[in-house]
Amino acid sequence: MKLRTKFFKALNRTRSSISEPIKALKRKRIDENLLIQLETSLISSDVGLTTTDIIIEKLKKDKTTEPISLIKSVLSNHLPKKDNISKILSETVVFIVGVNGTGKTTTSAKLANYLSKQNQKLFMIGADTYRAAAAAQLEEWANRMKMDIVCNSQSGDPSAVLFDGLKSAKKKASDIIIVDTAGRLHTYKNLMAELEKMVRIVDKHFVEFKINTLLTIDASLGQNSLIQAREFAKLFKIDGAILTKMDGTAKGGIAIPLYEELKIPVMFIGIGEQLNDLIPFNPEDYVNSLIGNDDNTEQ
Ligand code: GDP
Repeated sequence: MKLRTKFFKALNRTRSSISEPIKALKRKRIDENLLIQLETSLISSDVGLTTTDIIIEKLKKDKTTEPISLIKSVLSNHLPKKDNISKILSETVVFIVGVNGTGKTTTSAKLANYLSKQNQKLFMIGADTYRAAAAAQLEEWANRMKMDIVCNSQSGDPSAVLFDGLKSAKKKASDIIIVDTAGRLHTYKNLMAELEKMVRIVDKHFVEFKINTLLTIDASLGQNSLIQAREFAKLFKIDGAILTKMDGTAKGGIAIPLYEELKIPVMFIGIGEQLNDLIPFNPEDYVNSLIGNDDNTEQ
């Protein structure tokens, strides 16, 4: 299946939730009722208040541009223009951070799988020492992919596991090291302090590796996921986001406020629970999948 088709399918539910007013825009004159209906649909799909307001205002004022093109162009303006994935390639430590349950461990495995297909030598580190099941789960994925992994679940110290893992990864001449981190400590402050410690280890002892920190965000949580992202971004430099569980949500608009408000570009979307269910984020396919066509087919 083509990537854009996978994208389109993943956004089925979100697209359906806004399709009524979108179809009406094509059929009839824009009136106050239709604008209210559109506004409600866009907000409930989590496109965000700011972007929704801009769309509604433009539709009120601009009588010449075709309405669907106008909406698509506003949405595109609130998404990153360039592809950030190349930043991960070669000599990078990728920290996967996020709240428990957002899909960190599954995403670590899916990302390793994706990047290994880009001719990169992958190494995995399971540094979520607070949740034994996470280490076991990651080890199982790594074995399935025949990938090297360090995850000493006996050690309670994530930084020690990281250090061991980085040493082994270096010996194996790995290109990319994916680190699954803990998602819950008593407070965000403790969690951030621990993540900072891990970053310092890479900075100090493994200088040749650059660091890329990716935040997993459960798209189905809508505005709550935005609150989580805001907390992380306040205390920690986030290079990009991976929107997980896009396959089951009507709230797929979240990539827009994430970038508009927090300047966090979405880099991948998770579209299921299997290893191949991760696809690179493409802004154009995303906008087309959100808005769609009259007959619900791809553009
Ligand atoms: P963690 O606690 O953040 O490490 O989360 P896990 O990786 O353990 O994932 C939590 C649950 O979400 C598991 O049941 C995963 O199979 C599921 N999950 C993760 N990503 C996706 C996705 O993209 N789509 C769907 N449908 N489920 C997902």
